[in-house]
Amino acid sequence: MHIEQAYAQCMNDERIRSFLLFIFYFLIKSMQVFSLYEGSYSVDSTKKFIPFDPAKDDKKDRKGSLFIHIHPFLVQTSSDLILLDTGLGYRDENGQLILHNNIKKAGFEPQDVSLVLMSHLHQDHASGMVWEKEGKLQLAFPEAEYIVARGEWEAGYSGKSTSYKTEVFDILQRSGNLQLVEGSGSINAQVRYEHSGGHTEFHQVFHVEENDTHYFFGGDELPEPEQLLRKFAAKYDFDGKKAMHLREEYGSKAAQEDWICMFYHSTGAPFGKVEEKDGGFKVKSDQ
Ligand SMILES: [Zn+2]
Repeated sequence: MHIEQAYAQCMNDERIRSFLLFIFYFLIKSMQVFSLYEGSYSVDSTKKFIPFDPAKDDKKDRKGSLFIHIHPFLVQTSSDLILLDTGLGYRDENGQLILHNNIKKAGFEPQDVSLVLMSHLHQDHASGMVWEKEGKLQLAFPEAEYIVARGEWEAGYSGKSTSYKTEVFDILQRSGNLQLVEGSGSINAQVRYEHSGGHTEFHQVFHVEENDTHYFFGGDELPEPEQLLRKFAAKYDFDGKKAMHLREEYGSKAAQEDWICMFYHSTGAPFGKVEEKDGGFKVKSDQ
């Protein structure tokens, strides 16, 4: 039989045709990434995050503050809808989670999320794991498995740092949706976690790979593209030197292996590929 004839026969058969379309759909649909931008905020020594709108607000009125942007990410693979970090859990004027609204805008429902991957549990990354509905705190992603590093979980509960909100953890602990992991390993064929330990002692980073596309989420080890371009050890990191070396390591590997990096606190493009040039890095926007 000629190939054209075989093709025509396949396309005439409704079952084969739908199967082929299904495969094609997944090949082109697989591995999409979305920034679920939660907004821009200022934070001072009280560790309260206050919405900051550059069009209305003036930085001079918020002396001693850091200004940050927050981008949780959504990655669709052929088998999962993955959320990477969950933001501050802020809501719109109708009481809806900004995160939920953005997931809907991307064409999904919050209950479609099957994995929530947590880099660490500081409040600007972990507060959106839960939300208050009808006066009750509950999981924001009830169908998802939440992947958290065991050491980070314990550090969060130890009460040594005010950057953690334990009332959020209580809901997750009682839910049965929590999966604690240690060190480095795989969740499934596409998703890997890697202990990094620079920003917090048990901080972890994630790789999501499928069909030659490789996404990397560095959480607060690689929060902004600019941080690849400067060498510095930051006081806000648990181990500033280690975090600095990790940034270099991730930058080199990203360039060599063509990773798409997701930058959680980026003020510009939230994704990018990296080029290594003359001993430094260049980040190209990938949006
Ligand atoms: Zn942090």
